[in-house]
Amino acid sequence: MLDADFFRRWMTATAASVDREAERLTALDSPIGDADHGSNLQRGFHAVKAALDKEPPATPGEVLTLAGRQLISTVGGASGPLYGTLLRRAGKALGDAAEVGPEQLAEALRTGVDAVMTLGGAAPGDKTMIDALVPAVDALGESFAAARAAAEEGAVATTPLQARKGRASYLGERSIGHQDPGATSSALLIAALAEAAGE
Ligand code: ADP
Ligand code: MG
Ligand code: MG
Repeated sequence: MLDADFFRRWMTATAASVDREAERLTALDSPIGDADHGSNLQRGFHAVKAALDKEPPATPGEVLTLAGRQLISTVGGASGPLYGTLLRRAGKALGDAAEVGPEQLAEALRTGVDAVMTLGGAAPGDKTMIDALVPAVDALGESFAAARAAAEEGAVATTPLQARKGRASYLGERSIGHQDPGATSSALLIAALAEAAGE
C-alpha cells in the first residue's frame, strides 16, 4: 500500500529530477517553444516542495491536491495549469484514504489525464505531454517500471510528429523533428514515481 510519505517522496524525486534536467527541458522548448519549460517546472516544483515541507499532508490525496494547487498558482506557462489539473484531479479521485493501492493510483491518474485532455483539448498524437502520460497510465497496471518505460518511449515518439496543440503548433510542419518538452517532463514525472516505488 502507498501512504502519504510515498506520495511526498514522489513529488520530492520529481523536483530533484526537474532540477537536474531543467537545462535540457528548456533546450527542447527552444526550437519549438519559448525556451522556458525547464524554468517553469523548476519554479513550480520548488513551490511544491516548500509547501509539502511546511505542512506535510496526512493523506495521498492531499499530497497531490496540494502539489497541483502549487503548480497552478506558481507556473505561468501552459504546463502549470495542465500538470496542476493532472495532480489535483488525481488527488481528488484518491479521496481521504490514508493508504491506496497501485490500482487505485492508476485509476486516479487516468482521471487526471482525462481532465488534462478536456482542459487542453489535446489527444494522443498531438505532440504534447499526453503522448507520454497516456501510455504510462496504460502500463501502470503492469508495474511502475513498465510505466516509466512507456512514458519514455512515448516522449521519444513525439519527435516525428507535427504539433497540433500549444505553442509548438504555431510552427506547423516546422515542429516536426523535435522532441516535445512537455512529453519529456512527463517522462521525468513517471520515472520519479518508479523511483519512489524503488523500481
Ligand atoms: P508555454 O508553452 O506556455 O511556454 P511550457 O513551455 O511550460 O508552457 O510547456 C509546454 C508544454 O506544454 C508542451 O511541450 C506540451 O507538452 C504541453 N502543452 C501545451 N499545450 C498543451 C495542451 N493544449 N494540451 C496538453 N499539453 C500541452
Ligand atoms: Mg514554453
Ligand atoms: Mg512560456
